[in-house]
Amino acid sequence: MRVVNDDSGTTGNGSGGSGGAGGGAEGLGGAAYDVVVVGGGAGGLSAALVLARSRRTVAVVDSGSPRNAPSAHVHGFLSRDGQAPSELIRAGRAEVAGYGGDLIDGRVRSIEGRVRSAEPGFTVRLADGRTLRARRVVVATGLRDELPGIPGVRERWGRDVLHCPYCHGYEARDQPVGVLGSAPGAVHQALLLGQWSHDVVLFRHGLALSAEEAEQLAARGVHIVDGDVERLVMAGNRLEGVALTGDRVVPRRAVFVPPRMVPADGLLTDLGCERDGSGWVVTDASGLTSVAGVWAAGNVADPMAAVVNAAAGGASAAIAVNRGLVEEEVARAVADRRAGGRTRAPAADAAAAS
Ligand SMILES: Cc1cc2nc3c(=O)[nH]c(=O)nc-3n(C[C@H](O)[C@H](O)[C@H](O)COP(=O)(O)OP(=O)(O)OC[C@H]3O[C@@H](n4cnc5c(N)ncnc54)[C@H](O)[C@@H]3O)c2cc1C
Repeated sequence: MRVVNDDSGTTGNGSGGSGGAGGGAEGLGGAAYDVVVVGGGAGGLSAALVLARSRRTVAVVDSGSPRNAPSAHVHGFLSRDGQAPSELIRAGRAEVAGYGGDLIDGRVRSIEGRVRSAEPGFTVRLADGRTLRARRVVVATGLRDELPGIPGVRERWGRDVLHCPYCHGYEARDQPVGVLGSAPGAVHQALLLGQWSHDVVLFRHGLALSAEEAEQLAARGVHIVDGDVERLVMAGNRLEGVALTGDRVVPRRAVFVPPRMVPADGLLTDLGCERDGSGWVVTDASGLTSVAGVWAAGNVADPMAAVVNAAAGGASAAIAVNRGLVEEEVARAVADRRAGGRTRAPAADAAAAS
């Protein structure tokens, strides 16, 4: 696996250029790639895999904190259900490296530039001073979950404090579960959870309920507990209950919390990518943002994307990126041909050279 760790371009085992048309990955002093992918979770790695298999030179820069890292297992991803998140990332990285993609550990601080025909017009700067250049960029930096500051919530996040019934509802089936009324999405979560458990408690924690919501919750059999949640109560390494002010403890095995999801989209907005009225970067179906040459994949632009959706978004972005590069190269080849220049496809040149 080629893992580039420092300015010298130090690598691990394996490697090989992808034979793409956009220049090689020779060292890291401003190394030029067809595509730099920022973020190496499911979205970014999936984009890189498709690009590397398209014989594009591609680098993935990743700071190593995928959103689901606190969880023991990934669920709902066909053929990967129950796998550890770290194992999914490890396998994805090995696949990307197996096709010649470069994996760079680091944090991207800024992206500047724009599409320039036949040149890597984007400059990607890492926090440690390294610089990469790229013809296109795919940003797959995910999002940040802001959690209520109730003692125990952050500590148990991803284990028995959860947010996604589709990811972890099955594991909490038939158990006493709670929902923290820390945000408006809590009512929806509580109604949904009735699909997995008949013992669902909504801790209001100051959440105002409309008459319609109260009726729906009652009809669904969701028990409403008034009062403020003070902390979560643990017994050894598992959740035992939810403590309210006044020392009342309601026994629960899992608690669902609607987090406030904040996109990690600063690199995109600094480039001028537009956001919609809800505050999420606008993309087309392929993930193309409002800025030419800049794609977004996964949670950075779609808070609802599960791992399988993020991976699909990365693949769609990669296909659109490659198609655009081919169109650019064809236009150049036609111009060259008219001028009496070369007529061979870049991949044929690469094959001839190897
Ligand atoms: C606790 C929890 C459990 C979950 N369980 C499941 C589940 O079971 N099944 C499921 O389908 N979904 C699950 N999800 C949702 C899942 O985490 C997301 O769908 C998925 O992580 C989105 O992938 P992504 O590639 O968009 O972002 P991420 O996986 O978050 O990857 C983003 C990557 O970008 C890197 N990065 C960020 N900024 C920079 C930067 N400036 N420079 C370089 N790198 C950067 C980060 O370090 C990270 O590695 C869960 C979420 C949570 C919070």
